[in-house]
Amino acid sequence: MGKRKTKRKPQKKLKDKLDTQFNCLFCNHENSIECKIDSPNKVGILTCKICSVSWQCPVTYLDEPVDVYSAWIDACEDVNQQRRMKAAQKPRESRDDSRSPPPQSYSEDRLDPFDEDDDDDDY
Ligand SMILES: [Zn+2]
Repeated sequence: MGKRKTKRKPQKKLKDKLDTQFNCLFCNHENSIECKIDSPNKVGILTCKICSVSWQCPVTYLDEPVDVYSAWIDACEDVNQQRRMKAAQKPRESRDDSRSPPPQSYSEDRLDPFDEDDDDDDY
């Protein structure tokens, strides 16, 4: 199996400085959110300097801090939605304990009847 390795040269970005600071959704401070991309671990980390809220998400090598930030916004909306949905539907309680048969123990009751005439007298 030949694995095709595409060596792509990183494109030079016109912006020499990416936006890594954003507004916080929690405390509403401007530029208090700092986004970092932990590319070895493929994790985007976002923290607020003011209220110290932190959040992280899996990223790809294509993702940039702004993507982490927008994912965070999405996640916050998701959380709100999930809370609403959880409130609407009760968690189902279905405990289905499958009854397992009791462990079989070797019964020593059945001792072999001691046979005296060991040899077959088949006259
Ligand atoms: Zn904050």
